[in-house]
Amino acid sequence: MSTSTKLKIHNFSAGPCILPEEVLHKAAGSMIDFEGSGLSIIEMSHRSKPFEAVMANARSLVKELLGAPEHYEVVFLGGGASLGFHLVPMNYMRNGGKAAYANTGEWAGRAIKESVLVGETTVVATSEDKNFSYIPKGFDIPTDVDYFHFTSNNTIFGTQYKAFPRSSAPMICDMSSDIFSRPVNVADFALIYAGAQKNMGPAGATMYLMDPEKLGKTGRKLSPILNLQNHASKDSMYNTPPVYAVYVTMLTLEWLKRLGGVAEIEKRNAEKASLLYSTIDKLPVFQGTTAVEDRSAMNPTFVMKDTALEPVFDALWKEAGISGIRGHRSVGGYRASMYNALPLESVKVLVDVMEEFAKKNG
Ligand SMILES: *Cc1c(COP(=O)(O)O)cnc(C)c1O
Repeated sequence: MSTSTKLKIHNFSAGPCILPEEVLHKAAGSMIDFEGSGLSIIEMSHRSKPFEAVMANARSLVKELLGAPEHYEVVFLGGGASLGFHLVPMNYMRNGGKAAYANTGEWAGRAIKESVLVGETTVVATSEDKNFSYIPKGFDIPTDVDYFHFTSNNTIFGTQYKAFPRSSAPMICDMSSDIFSRPVNVADFALIYAGAQKNMGPAGATMYLMDPEKLGKTGRKLSPILNLQNHASKDSMYNTPPVYAVYVTMLTLEWLKRLGGVAEIEKRNAEKASLLYSTIDKLPVFQGTTAVEDRSAMNPTFVMKDTALEPVFDALWKEAGISGIRGHRSVGGYRASMYNALPLESVKVLVDVMEEFAKKNG
């Protein structure tokens, strides 16, 4: 299939968001005819040999790309990362036990709300005092909690842990918006989970990468559908998995592997981030909104000093084929999300527009 049919849009959407163009073409073809079978990928049984191979490949690519320990398990479930917020305390907090959380923004806050419903929850660090514009550091995590939960990248406010906290309690991390963007030491985590729709594939699947030895210790009776141990023991096929989302995730992970894996994509992401942030800092009409040392490589946020000029800027970037850089409705300003699949070329287009705007309106 031709790869020149897609309109040239520079897609800075925060999620769902840009995926590699070659992945979209392959996925589109498989929607009609999966590898010459005559069946669409979404028309065949999840228990069929071809789909079992897709699931096995997706699960093993997750572990391979992140260098996960051999015994770790991967499952793909529906329900979004938001279901994960509930599964975490249900599967990791002992009956009568407690958990520690860091609050670095909207998603971290929602995870905390779910934990509060299940048991004793301590917020050990928060950046709410400055509207989540920085990452708290140097905080203590109690040793007697069942786990410590944090959010590696704050998608809405644009901050990111550059160094992860250390904890003697098992660590659990929502990596929805920066999974596969950089290397992580998986062995440090009891569980890493992430919605697919920000660096992996379409909405509809959430990936859980976990140490099975940390499961089944809560003393809580769990419904099988909420039980991560159950899903892991059934190779993510306890019930019908989100087949298309898992398939496209597999294609995206194959793409990432061909490219050189997370070490290579980290370099490319750093180059994109440095180009955009240096432009924000250089041009007096714009201002970054977060602490410089905590700036997210995935979701740079900035505002215009004179907000009356926003319509002028908006017309310029729209004309250049840029899409999705308006800030989250709760924050305003601008957010130029730069996930793995966004090419440097798109960032250059945005930077040119910002320069042109500054020249005329500075
Ligand atoms: C988008 C996002 C979520 C929410 O994911 P859903 O799949 O919509 O439930 C959770 N956490 C983070 C960090 C996110 O960026």
